[in-house]
Amino acid sequence: MPLYALLLLAWPGCCPPEFKTSQGDSAADSAVDPAPQASTVTSVPSAPLEPEFPFITMLMHADTPYQLMKGKNIGNETAVHLSLPRLRQGKIDAFSAVLFVESASQNENTALYCQRATKKIDALLEDHSGLLRLALTPEDFKTNRYSGHISVFRTLEGSFCLRHGIYRIEDLYASGIRMIGLTWENDHDFATSWVYHGPIGLTERGKNAVVRMNHLGIIVDVSHMSDRAIDDVLAISQAPIVASHSNARSVCPHPRNLNDAHIRAIAEKGGLIGVNFYPPHLVQSGKATLAHVVQHIRYLRDVGGIGCVGLGSDFDGISKGPSGLETAAELPRLRETLLAEGFSEPEVAAIFGGNFLRLFNKVQALGKH
Ligand SMILES: [Zn+2]
Repeated sequence: MPLYALLLLAWPGCCPPEFKTSQGDSAADSAVDPAPQASTVTSVPSAPLEPEFPFITMLMHADTPYQLMKGKNIGNETAVHLSLPRLRQGKIDAFSAVLFVESASQNENTALYCQRATKKIDALLEDHSGLLRLALTPEDFKTNRYSGHISVFRTLEGSFCLRHGIYRIEDLYASGIRMIGLTWENDHDFATSWVYHGPIGLTERGKNAVVRMNHLGIIVDVSHMSDRAIDDVLAISQAPIVASHSNARSVCPHPRNLNDAHIRAIAEKGGLIGVNFYPPHLVQSGKATLAHVVQHIRYLRDVGGIGCVGLGSDFDGISKGPSGLETAAELPRLRETLLAEGFSEPEVAAIFGGNFLRLFNKVQALGKH
C-alpha cells in the first residue's frame, strides 16, 4: 500500500485534501472549541500595513479553471464558487486562477492537458474582458481596481506542467504566471508533499526552481509541501514566500496545516498565509462554520503578526466552504464578522488584500526579471 494511502488510513476522518466528496455540512453548526492560546509562543512584530491603498479583496487560491476544464460555466451563477455573479456579490477584486493537473497518470497526454488548461485561462480573460483583467504586477491590481475590473492572478499548483520540459519556469512567467507551488499531493519531482515523511524536502530541481523563481519575481508557494520542504524553501528563498491556502495546525491538527514554527518563520521572512476554507482543514470534525475561519485568522495573527495573514479560500477546489461562507458571494460576511470580533479596519484591510500587495511588491522588487 502506498505511503499516501497508509497515512490517510491513519488519519481518522481525513479525505485526500481537495476535490473531495461533500462533507455533509448539513450539521455544520457545531460549536467552536476554545482556540488554543498563542500566548505561549513569541509573536512576530506586525509588518506595516498599506493604508494608502483602497480596500481590496484578494483570494490567493481558486481552482475555478479546473472546474472550467470540466465543462462548468463561470457565467452560470451556481456552477462554480467564483461565478461572475458571485464575484460581484462578494465584492471580490482579485483572485488567483490556478493552472493545475490533478494527476499525470489520469491524463494520457499531460503536455496537451497543460496547454489546454493554459488556453482555457486565456479564453476566460478574453471572453470576459469587460469584467476580468490579467494582473502581472502590483500596479496592475490598482489599475484594474480603478477601472472596475477584477484582477486575475495566474498561478501554478503542482509540478506536472514542469515535467519533461512541458513548460520551463520562464515559459510560465511569459504566460503571466506569478506564483508557483512546486508540489500538490502526489508529484514530488521538485518538492515532497505533506503526505511524505522521509528525509527529502526540495529536490535539486526544486532548489534550482526556487532560485529561478526568485530571479524572475515569481512568488514561491509552500502550501501542500512537507515540513522538510518548507524548511528548505525558507532556507533558500531570498524573497518572502507564501502558503497560499493553508491553516494553523495548532487550531486544527491536520498535517496539511502549518506548525507554529513555520507560521513564525514565514512571517519573519515577510511572507503570507492564505486561510483555507476547506472544512476538514478548519476543524477536525469537518463541520466548520465561518467562526472557525475567524479562529484561524486570529491564531495566525497572534502567532505571526497581522502582516502574515491573507485569504486563500481554495474555492472551486473544495466541494463547498464552511457554513456561512460557502462561496465567494459570502465574503462580505467575513469582513463584517471580523470587525464585530474586534479586528480593526486596517487589520481587515491587510488580511483581505493589503498584505498580499505588499508581499508581491517585495518579491517583484527583489527579482531581476
Ligand atoms: Zn491545493
